[in-house]
Order: sequence, then structure tokens, then C-alpha cells
Amino acid sequence: MTSQRTRERMIASLLDRGIKNWAVLDVMRTTPRHIFLDEALAHRAYEDTALPIGYNQTISQPYVVARMTEAVLAGRASDGSKLPRVLEVGTGCGYQTAILAQLADRVWTVERIQPLLDKARKNLGLLKIRNVRSKHDDGSLGWPEHGPFDAIVAAAAPQHVPAELLEQLADGGRLVIPVGREKGSQELRLIQRQGDEFHTQVLEAVNFVPLYIGQVQY
Ligand code: SAH
Repeated sequence: MTSQRTRERMIASLLDRGIKNWAVLDVMRTTPRHIFLDEALAHRAYEDTALPIGYNQTISQPYVVARMTEAVLAGRASDGSKLPRVLEVGTGCGYQTAILAQLADRVWTVERIQPLLDKARKNLGLLKIRNVRSKHDDGSLGWPEHGPFDAIVAAAAPQHVPAELLEQLADGGRLVIPVGREKGSQELRLIQRQGDEFHTQVLEAVNFVPLYIGQVQY
């Protein structure tokens, strides 16, 4: 169920769907996704689908994790170089955090539901990932003390891109974020900063949980 063969099938499906950065594929092949799920769902860990993690939240679909990671890397990592500083908004159970942490020097991640953050910290500890700092807070505000960031990845969808996240992008930095409240009408955007200009590209239609603004839940 969590055998090498089912993992290879997941990688084959990422390749089929157009993921090309070999460093992303490699990290996703070697990172055990089943440890991020409750035991009852672990047998489905290598299906290319989002799955529940409690508190009405989901672990992101592997394809979407790969697509977002590839988009912010912009060709990096496949040449051995890493992203210096990455911010993640919406840690959830920490799966995407674990992928990013292996392709970046340092990752800062923010989650508004404390019990999920606790799970994520435990999971990252199990994988001996040590270059991540996390906090319980409203991630729509970013983490200004540690910015600017070379990449920002948001795992939940606001209606409008928060200005704080744009402000915390380094010059040349990339933000990948789903936008739109209605399920079925969200789009994944890639925003690149050049000086004080922001260039937006729409990558594809997606389905994310909402990004709550202005409140920390638990
Ligand atoms: N990155 C996760 C996906 C988690 S789902 C993965 O790899 O699977 C999105 C997460 O965003 C949820 O845990 C939700 O609680 C969190 N979230 C929503 N609004 C938030 C906010 N304003 N600040 C921080 N986290 C938020």
C-alpha cells in the first residue's frame, strides 16, 4: 500500500501531468506522504488526490504541491541550487513544508489551527527536517520579521491577494497563490516581483480551502 511501487505510480502521474523539474520529482519520490495522514487513510497516501487531515482541512494533492513548488523554483534545484528563503502560508499537516524544506535553505511557515501546527511539527521532526521555523498566527500577514522572501507559497485561497505577501516578496521573488472564494472558480496565480512591479500569470484552475483573513482559530 505504501510500497515503492505505489510511490513510483504517483511520480509517473506527476510526469504525465507535465511536472519536469527532476529535483521536485526526486524529493516527492523520497518523502513518505503516508506519515502525514491518519492511519485509516494512509493506504491512500500515494493517490494523486487531496485527503482530509481533520479540522475541515486537507493535505494538498501531490500534483498541486509539485506544480506550486516547480513554479516558485523557476528552474532552480534541478541545477543543484536552492531557494534561499521561503515562506509558506497554511502549514496544515506539513507535507508541502517538507517538500519545500528540501529545496530551500530555510522555510518559515504559518498555520492558524494550533493542533494542525502541532501535527506538522511532529511530522517534520520524524523526517529530521531542521531548517523550518513555524508559528501559530494569521499567515495572510506573512512573517515580516523574516522577509523579504525569495518565494512565498500559499496553500489556502483568499478572495484577493493580501498586500502583506506582495510587500514581503524580494525583488525577483515569486508568489504562488490560489485566488477566489467559490470552489470551482479559483485560479492558481504566479506573481513575480520586479522592483515595484508585479507580473501575474494564471497557471490553472484549482480547488483549495479558504484562506481566512484577520483571525486565528484555535
Ligand atoms: N500545506 C498543506 C495544505 C494545508 S490546507 C499540505 O501540504 O497539505 C491549508 C491550510 O491553510 C489549513 O491547514 C488552514 O488551517 C490554513 N489556513 C487557512 N487560512 C490561514 C491563515 N490565514 N493563516 C494561516 N493558515 C491558514
